[in-house]
Amino acid sequence: MPDRLDGTAALVTGASSGIGATTAVELSRHGAAVALAGRRAERLDELAKQIREAGGVAVPLRADVSSEEEANKLVERAVAELGRLDTLVNNAGLMLLGPVAGAPADDWRRMIDVNVLGLMYCARAALPHLLRAAQDSPHRVADMVNLSSVAGRIARNGSAAYNATKFGVGAFSEALRQEVAARRVRVSLIEPGVTETELADHNRPEVLDQMNRRFSGIKRLQAEDIAEAIGFMVTRPWHVIISELMVRPTEQEA
Ligand code: NDP
Repeated sequence: MPDRLDGTAALVTGASSGIGATTAVELSRHGAAVALAGRRAERLDELAKQIREAGGVAVPLRADVSSEEEANKLVERAVAELGRLDTLVNNAGLMLLGPVAGAPADDWRRMIDVNVLGLMYCARAALPHLLRAAQDSPHRVADMVNLSSVAGRIARNGSAAYNATKFGVGAFSEALRQEVAARRVRVSLIEPGVTETELADHNRPEVLDQMNRRFSGIKRLQAEDIAEAIGFMVTRPWHVIISELMVRPTEQEA
């Protein structure tokens, strides 16, 4: 029997599209008030409207999580708006693929800044609030769900820098899990396989072609599949943590 999230508040980064947007909707369905973060304010406003029309509580918060200052402010604004913070879904990310030889270092910096540092800034800023929520929540626990990837478990030719960021997310999450486990903050990792979102669209056309060839003929995951899995993770009773969950399309071989 899942726990309801009524009376709790969640912050979802990267809520302007894909997995983040559907996860915010899912957490709202479970009863959480949700703060929606991202850079595209119009998308966030639209999603907040949709959640409110369905009877939920949602606040759009424009922020670039690759800025330490903006990430800190984002968490403070979410707490100011919603009164507390029980769940952080560290989802904002980008994936720029291609060989290491000749790769633009700027692509690497952008991925490290968002996928690793952005996630770490948000995690650190959220911790005091999550620790407090674990003490006073009816749910008796608080959650941080960090988005890794199958690419955080299996390195592939052509994906080195993205692999490095997602392996980093895995290491950071496990160390942090150990740091706060006894205080009932569950730090967990979800590792999706290929999911139909805007993630790949920022790649050069030749990289995109290669990806499309690799996954042609397989039914990709939908963002809702991952949102449901995250919903499952954060609605376990307080004594249960799904500390790591890999979700692949059935037909994805590696
Ligand atoms: P999308 O491109 O649809 O979503 C990425 C989100 O991240 C957007 O909402 C974007 O918002 C946000 N974002 C990017 N940069 C920043 C930034 N600097 N500050 C704040 N927000 C930012 O892709 P997905 O939904 O697929 O990706 C979500 C997560 O899932 C990522 O971490 C990705 O690595 C992971 N993942 C995805 C897989 C897939 O196949 N799709 C597989 C495995 C993992 P905005 O542009 O408005 O700022």
